[in-house]
Amino acid sequence: MTSTEQPPDGYPAGLIESRMLIGGEWVDAADGRTLDIEAPARKLAIGRVPRGGAADVDRAVRAAAAAFDDWRRRPARERGALVLKIAEGLAARAERIARTQALETGNALRTQTRPEALLAADAFRYFGGLAGETKGETIPLGENTLSYTRREPIGVVGAIVPWNAPVSLSAMKIAPAIAAGNTIVLKAAEDAPLAVLLIAEVCAEHLPPGVVNVITGYGPEAGAALAEHPMVGKLSFTGSTQVGKLVMHAAAERIVPVSLELGGKSPAIVYPDVMDDGGDWAVDCVMASMRFTRQSQSCTAGSRLFLHESVYDRFLEKLAAKAQALKIGDPLDEANDVGALINGKQFRRVCDYIEDGLARNPGRLVCGGLPPGEGPLARGWFTIPTVIAGVSNEWRLAREEIFGPVLVAIPWKDEEDAIRMANDSHYGLAGYVFTRDLARGLRAAHRIESGWVQVNQGGGQSLGQPYGGFKQSGLGREFSLDGMLESFTHRKAVTVNLAA
Ligand code: NAD
Repeated sequence: MTSTEQPPDGYPAGLIESRMLIGGEWVDAADGRTLDIEAPARKLAIGRVPRGGAADVDRAVRAAAAAFDDWRRRPARERGALVLKIAEGLAARAERIARTQALETGNALRTQTRPEALLAADAFRYFGGLAGETKGETIPLGENTLSYTRREPIGVVGAIVPWNAPVSLSAMKIAPAIAAGNTIVLKAAEDAPLAVLLIAEVCAEHLPPGVVNVITGYGPEAGAALAEHPMVGKLSFTGSTQVGKLVMHAAAERIVPVSLELGGKSPAIVYPDVMDDGGDWAVDCVMASMRFTRQSQSCTAGSRLFLHESVYDRFLEKLAAKAQALKIGDPLDEANDVGALINGKQFRRVCDYIEDGLARNPGRLVCGGLPPGEGPLARGWFTIPTVIAGVSNEWRLAREEIFGPVLVAIPWKDEEDAIRMANDSHYGLAGYVFTRDLARGLRAAHRIESGWVQVNQGGGQSLGQPYGGFKQSGLGREFSLDGMLESFTHRKAVTVNLAA
């Protein structure tokens, strides 16, 4: 943007300048370096944050370690009450958080970032209420023995989040970690740290210094330094499988517990009976499961559509009509359903998959295709919801996580084949089954090798339900009470001789 040009409506007039939160203070990087944040819907710089490095991470981890002793000793309900105050603070500031996230991620305000900001507040509400549930049990070892377990906080949690849903994913780590008595250093994604820093602002208003610290910067610099820091007692990572493996290596070096929420290539199996009543509901669910309204930049996207051959053409026709009806455009415009991809790199990657699909499979484009090279959409990294038919489950299009709006449709005749193909993936995050025969749907749900299967719906994750992947989609569970206990506490047994 030149200095004479006005920013578009809702965009900041200058750069939003934010700092990192370390030990209760707002700080620049030790070496003064910065990193610019772009609004992908306009390819326009809108923010500047510190480019944190190893020295900053070290300072943050030390601040978190210093805060740990006081924080862990507090009664759990007292910690929970502060977490609940953060929930209120986030709810009060949800609109600002949602708008900031819409700007920096390109995700649409109405369909994505506003509900996400409210979900983040709800995560603090949920885990704040559960703080007192971090309790142990007694074990009947005999009359003269008292044996019990304690759920103890681990210490400093090192959390790393991606850019696709930065607000809710940060909340899902900060809230349970601190409610359970840990302190935390969270590394925001380099593409989308601004809204996460707004969460940090609310945390800083209610918590003692050092309990929550937020670092901004690049993965191989700040992220790697956090994963490798010797004083970090637990690593909680959400991002790609490729980086998850590096984080797991770092954890292995020090034998610290690690939870990994990684990529996916989730199957959606459609049985023919969904068309008995016209099938609109099933098409809507498939659209929802594919997360077209977040440009399918979702780890749980149902991106492989297994359609029974008898309804294949009819289903795709309806799907195309509904996908084409989605309104794509500026994420701040409430009329739009779909926003822009996160950056140019991701945009070229998605286009490359579409080109590959069309070259292998000419004439099978159901809807979408390559984005226009000119017009309003060319002003940002916009793509169009795309469906390609007649794809083989062996192709790269069906095997690799695209993380963009490219849905591949694969026909099946025999149920065994559908389930075999659904499971023929090294991912196992989510799965979807659509049928009016619930018993059959449940049988399929039980056989799909994924951490989460939905029958006759395609919604997002819910608080209270353990969430995590099978296979290379991850390790451990978050989002729930048992996820909080498993991921953010140690279990200690204490045995007492009562006859001594
Ligand atoms: P990414 O793995 O490239 O980056 C994720 C985070 O890791 C970022 O903060 C990044 O800076 C950091 N990072 C990068 N290199 C690092 C390194 N060497 N050491 C430590 N940290 C490093 O992923 P992304 O592109 O930001 O996000 C997209 C991916 O995230 C997709 O694969 C998606 O499926 C996955 N994801 C998974 C879930 C889930 O819950 N399972 C949720 C959202 C996204």
